[in-house]
Amino acid sequence: MPRSPSRPLTYDLRQQQSGPATWTNWAGNQSCSPRDLIRPAGRAELSELVATATQAGRKVAVAGSGHSFTGAALSDDLLLDVSSIAGVIEVDLPSGLVKVGGGTVLADLNRALDSLGLAMANLGDIDSQTIAGSISTGTHGTGAARPNLPAQIAAIDLVTADGEVLELAESPDPDTGPGDDGSSDLLRAARVAIGSLGVISAVTLKTVPAFNLHRVDEPMPLDRVLADFDELTAANEHFEFFIFPYTDTALTICRNSTVRQPAPRGRFERYLGDVVIENALGDLALRAIGKVPSVIPRTARFSSRFMSQAEQIDVSHRCFANYRTIRFNEMEYAVPREFGAEALGRVLDLIREERMPLAMPIECRVVPADDNLISPVSGRDSTYIAIHQHAGQEWQPYFREIERIFDSYGGRPHWGKHHFQTAETLAPRYPEWDRFAKVRDRLDPTRTFTNEYVRTVLGD
Ligand SMILES: Cc1cc2nc3c(=O)[nH]c(=O)nc-3n(C[C@H](O)[C@H](O)[C@H](O)COP(=O)(O)OP(=O)(O)OC[C@H]3O[C@@H](n4cnc5c(N)ncnc54)[C@H](O)[C@@H]3O)c2cc1C
Repeated sequence: MPRSPSRPLTYDLRQQQSGPATWTNWAGNQSCSPRDLIRPAGRAELSELVATATQAGRKVAVAGSGHSFTGAALSDDLLLDVSSIAGVIEVDLPSGLVKVGGGTVLADLNRALDSLGLAMANLGDIDSQTIAGSISTGTHGTGAARPNLPAQIAAIDLVTADGEVLELAESPDPDTGPGDDGSSDLLRAARVAIGSLGVISAVTLKTVPAFNLHRVDEPMPLDRVLADFDELTAANEHFEFFIFPYTDTALTICRNSTVRQPAPRGRFERYLGDVVIENALGDLALRAIGKVPSVIPRTARFSSRFMSQAEQIDVSHRCFANYRTIRFNEMEYAVPREFGAEALGRVLDLIREERMPLAMPIECRVVPADDNLISPVSGRDSTYIAIHQHAGQEWQPYFREIERIFDSYGGRPHWGKHHFQTAETLAPRYPEWDRFAKVRDRLDPTRTFTNEYVRTVLGD
């Protein structure tokens, strides 16, 4: 594809230049020094800036909160910080449709929805991401019938390479099927696009009435969890579990809606449990263990004895989100739902056989199929399996070997978490891959929105 030479921006940057021109992600494993790091003040300015950048032959990437482990948000050219394009724009209470700026951080969004008597139907396990960043990589929570974040989006305002704002909405009559011009594919492409189609300046959310959740944490024998996996996921609105490698006890977490009144943990209890014990002491223990990897199996078996039953009733978003300060690397794969328990069993066996020094727990969640073209759960109900390694410890060789197990199920990686795939290995795993490629050619023929990661996973 012909590219014009990259020129400096003629756009007036005086108001927009934001901070030092280095950007690092949350995990600290990805950083870049873009030529320009700009925070547009509003949506009009964003459009003008993108159009100017394209005319100058520049490459543009957008950073959300930097909670991806991959280089999805990196740029050596123009990096946009859309944190000023945030907050509630429009509310339609009867339908629950709420339009918000793409840079809205989930924690702020949850509080704003709560004050309107609304909530997101499902969320992941932290609330620090932006709404646009989280949908762009297919961020999910858990629940056999509870949608991931992209599936909770009814419309998107997308600033394309020429600065035009496309208002993409669900087709009023989905049964009519895709039109010849592919226009009905646009929203299904834009919901999960890893920043490759343009800048999401606003999203319209399909919210639900605010609700409370009852969360129960309970240790269970792993054999039983794997054998009863289908029953447990069917019996609970949101079911997940954690398992430390080398142990036989899983920590199950069930969250179900309740009409009971919130009984949140006190501030001190929360601080002690989440900040001191789980994060600070956990971090110290992982650092110590990392120095002597041979003790991992014994330490894991010892500490799994201390898993205990816990309960919480709270407003839904507070029950979904956890507090995380321990830095780590993560790989997460979506495999067809029916192979989840089997795949996890193979991963645990491999870790044991190879004596891999992985001390952090593996997380297992379920997500229903969505219809987004390159969503990891596109067209199939899935079990997500996430492997973690403490920051500073070697992870590549272990993740690479474990990835082969996911490959054998046609596993699809979380776009924001480590993996070793390329466009070539990924294309056959997504039935609608070519449709996405057509949308990309149509919306970004100049490949303004590309970086090394996007080129690797989606191709030139
Ligand atoms: C501690 C931790 C916990 C996590 N928990 C979960 C979880 O429970 N479930 C889960 O699925 N994932 C989880 N993740 C992964 C995380 O949700 C995703 O990586 C998410 O994409 C991060 O959002 P962000 O706002 O930080 O975006 P970034 O990581 O900054 O960017 C992600 C992608 O979105 C693009 N993007 C950002 N903003 C825009 C925009 N306005 N327009 C167009 N493109 C844009 C970027 O270019 C990039 O391609 C977790 C990550 C961490 C570090």
